[in-house]
Amino acid sequence: MKGRKLLMIPGPIEFEPAVLRALGAPTTSHVAPSFIESFGHSLEMMREVWMAPSGQPFIIAGTGTLAMDIAGANLTEPGDNVLVISTGYFGDRYADLLKRYGASVTMLKAAPGDVVPTEVIENELKNKKYKLLTFTHVDTSTAVQVKPEPIGKLGKKYGVLTTLDGVCSVGGERILQEEWGIDVVLTASQKAVGVPPGLALLVASKKAIEAWKNRRSPVANYYADWSNWLPIMEAYEQRRPSYFGTPAVNLVAALEVSLGIILKEGMENRFARHERIGNAFRAAIAALGLGMIPTSPEIAANTLSAPRYPSGTEGAAFMKAMSATDIIVAGGLLPELKNEYFRVGHMGSVNRNDLIATIGAIESAMIACDNKIKPGTGISAALASL
Ligand code: PMP
Repeated sequence: MKGRKLLMIPGPIEFEPAVLRALGAPTTSHVAPSFIESFGHSLEMMREVWMAPSGQPFIIAGTGTLAMDIAGANLTEPGDNVLVISTGYFGDRYADLLKRYGASVTMLKAAPGDVVPTEVIENELKNKKYKLLTFTHVDTSTAVQVKPEPIGKLGKKYGVLTTLDGVCSVGGERILQEEWGIDVVLTASQKAVGVPPGLALLVASKKAIEAWKNRRSPVANYYADWSNWLPIMEAYEQRRPSYFGTPAVNLVAALEVSLGIILKEGMENRFARHERIGNAFRAAIAALGLGMIPTSPEIAANTLSAPRYPSGTEGAAFMKAMSATDIIVAGGLLPELKNEYFRVGHMGSVNRNDLIATIGAIESAMIACDNKIKPGTGISAALASL
């Protein structure tokens, strides 16, 4: 296709043609039987994708930040102690957001590219009573991945609600919400879930819903309040029309298609594919002699990578050379390291051809910036890994 560029940023991503077709279909009424079916079916499929058979799914028009806001607004009250585990930009954002609701926020912040050790989190939970703990599965600013299972266990052990920001992980990285005991797993449509931007998606555990029902004060955010949305989700799932705010009809139709594609691939297959792609990309970057923001491959995400610019090459010059390749990648995001690295998304329907094309583009940008590499070095390493 003439003029086509490959979108390899960490969201929005390249979407499946069937998803885009659903998005472009004529808009129906939000109470049309066909739409009620789409909505209800999407809610049911979310439980399977999140692996939360008894969870309560929510589909609400908005972005990932709204999903963070919904969990924050419904689960905190003024004066509640909240522990935020931050591995980058989006962890810091969660701390800011929770303070708006009057929460007393303690933040455990990892050094850039690193995680907070589980023992440090456990010590904090031992020493102080918290109502809620939030953490980011994959912080898109650092490409660091936190293992959710041990934190879910700590939440159970210390009676703390846990919220996982899975905006850059749901549908790509392994999450077993219910088995791991995580109370809210939230995301947005535009990443590994595979739908253009515009939907805030989350699944809440029974315990989270109970905690919300037992609040002493009303939810301080009208749009986010589960009192408004829970009856709507229940109605659509029972295939009844209902209204609070007009659903994003076309996006929900696209979501139904995308969740169907995800489940057809199978969750374990999908996680394994992301791991293969992540490993191959990391092998290529290492072969090209570039560093990475995550301090070790064990904590690197499979949905995106954050390679450092080649040493001696200005970030701006490298990004300019990249843009001449028709592969779109993203710049750095973490304020303190912003000019030292770039980010490549490799999630959702990404395939090995996309990956090889991207690695080829990185090689040609390096060569354009006078880096002494042998063409094909990164591609060979990726192919060997694949
Ligand atoms: N959390 C993480 C981990 C993210 O990557 C993002 C988006 N990049 C957000 C939250 C916020 O999502 P949105 O931009 O859709 O508001």
